Amino acid sequence: MNYPVSVFTEETTPSAPPFAATLQWQEDHLILKIPGKEARKLFLNDVSLSLGGIEKNQVILTTSDATPWRIYLSNDAEKGLRHHSHPTGPSLVAQIDALRGVRFKSRWAYKFRFFLKLLSIILVALLTYRVFLFLLGLFMPLSWEKHLGDGSTRDIEKMALKDPIVAQTIQTLGEKVAGPEALRRYEFKFRVIPKAEVNALAYPGGWIYVHTGLIQFAQSPDELTGVLAHEVQHILERHSLRRMVDDFGFSFFITGIMGDHALSAVIAKANTLQFSRGQEKEADVRGMKLLMKAGLPGDGMITFFERMQKSDSPRWMEYLAYLSTHPSDKNRATYLRKTLADARPGAQTPKIAWEEFKKRCAEANPAVSQ
Ligand SMILES: [Zn+2]
Repeated sequence: MNYPVSVFTEETTPSAPPFAATLQWQEDHLILKIPGKEARKLFLNDVSLSLGGIEKNQVILTTSDATPWRIYLSNDAEKGLRHHSHPTGPSLVAQIDALRGVRFKSRWAYKFRFFLKLLSIILVALLTYRVFLFLLGLFMPLSWEKHLGDGSTRDIEKMALKDPIVAQTIQTLGEKVAGPEALRRYEFKFRVIPKAEVNALAYPGGWIYVHTGLIQFAQSPDELTGVLAHEVQHILERHSLRRMVDDFGFSFFITGIMGDHALSAVIAKANTLQFSRGQEKEADVRGMKLLMKAGLPGDGMITFFERMQKSDSPRWMEYLAYLSTHPSDKNRATYLRKTLADARPGAQTPKIAWEEFKKRCAEANPAVSQ
C-alpha cells in the first residue's frame, strides 16, 4: 500500500515546495515514489527518526545523504509503519514512542519550568517590594515623614488635653528629654490624651501621645521621662515610620503623602501595631543614653518598666496596653541597669509641678481616678 508523504530534497527551496510523494512498506525497506522521478529504495537502518511539523508531532524520516532528504509521514503513513510487520518494524515503532514520550515529558518539564519562572518572578517582585518598603522606611525624606505624621495624627490630635498646665508640662519634659540635637531634626509634639490604658504612642514626624492612664501609673517625673525617652527613640530611629510603611505598604505611603482622609481608618489600626523586640531594646538602650545626655536620672525608666512587667495589681492588669504595643525583653531591667552604670553623676529630676500635673491628668482620665 502506498501512503502519502511530503519530501524535502536538495531541490526543495522556498520557491520550490516539498514533493508530494508516496511511500510503500516492504519487508526490510521502503520504496519512495516521487512523481516524475525514479523510485528510491530506502533501508530502514539508513534513515533516522525525529519529530517535526507544525505541531512538532509529525514523524520525520531523514536519509543519510550528504544533503539529507526529509520525509514527513502523514498519519496514515505512520499507521502503516506501525501495522506493517517487518524485521526493523518494532524497533522503529519503539523509537517513535520513545520520541513521543520524551516530548510528552518535556512538555511537562516546559510547563514546570514556566511555573518556576513565574514563581521566581513573583518572588523577585515581592522581594523588590519589601526591599523598596524597607529602603523607603530608612531613607524617606524628612519632609515626607512629617507630612505622613501630620496626616496620621489628625484624629488623635483632636483628643489631646488642652489644659495649659498639662500641655506645657508634658511638652517641657519631652523637650528636655529629646535635647537640642533631636529638636533640630524634629519639631517634637508631646501630648496627653485621656485614655485609661497604660500606653504611649509614637507617630512618625515627632508626635508622641501619652495616655492619662500611663501618667497615673508613673510614680515620679523620672518614670515619665524614662517612657518619653523610649518613645523619642522610636521616632529618631524611625521605628514608627518603618512599622507603618511595613504594615500598610505603598498604598499607605501614597495616601499618607497625598493626605487622603480615608487614612484615619487605617491609622486607627496603627495603635495596635507592635514594635519588634529588637526595636524595643534599641529604644530602651538609646533612650537611656538620651536621659543621661540630658542630665536626667535613668532609674525611673527601669523602675517604670520593671513595675509594669511585674505588676500583679488587678487594678492595672487590664490597662497595661503598653506591653502589647511595646513587647519587652525579660532581661530589660538587666540591660538597662548595665547601660545606666556609666551614668554621669549629677543627674537631676526636672523641676515641674508633678503633683498638680498628675492631678489634672487624673481628672481627665476616663476610667481610672484617684
Ligand atoms: Zn517601645
